[in-house]
Amino acid sequence: MLIKTKTILHDGFYELRTLDIEFCCNPMGQAFNNRFIDFGEYDMACNMNNDVNVYHCDPYPEGPCWAQMPIKLCPFCGEAIMIENIKTVKLVARKEKVTAERTVYSEEPIKKRIEE
Ligand SMILES: [Zn+2]
Repeated sequence: MLIKTKTILHDGFYELRTLDIEFCCNPMGQAFNNRFIDFGEYDMACNMNNDVNVYHCDPYPEGPCWAQMPIKLCPFCGEAIMIENIKTVKLVARKEKVTAERTVYSEEPIKKRIEE
């Protein structure tokens, strides 16, 4: 299985995002679709975890608590899990001037009279 990722460098931290996944077998694809197994941290807005993980949830009354465990091989077919970062970008903020467009009406002479 191959996971292609993108690293986004922010100011003082980084973030990993999945760009493409080539599944090794159908059960692994199903496990990903149902989120028993996934890339990175579960339910994190900004993922910094570079592993494929299996997840477990403890549904405490105060809120769910997720635990994860990294895996290096597919538990269904035994193929190695490869993670390849193919792109690293830096997020740069820049100010942009916004100009708005407006409609202006003006009179234009016509030769023909409008018949009533
Ligand atoms: Zn597999």
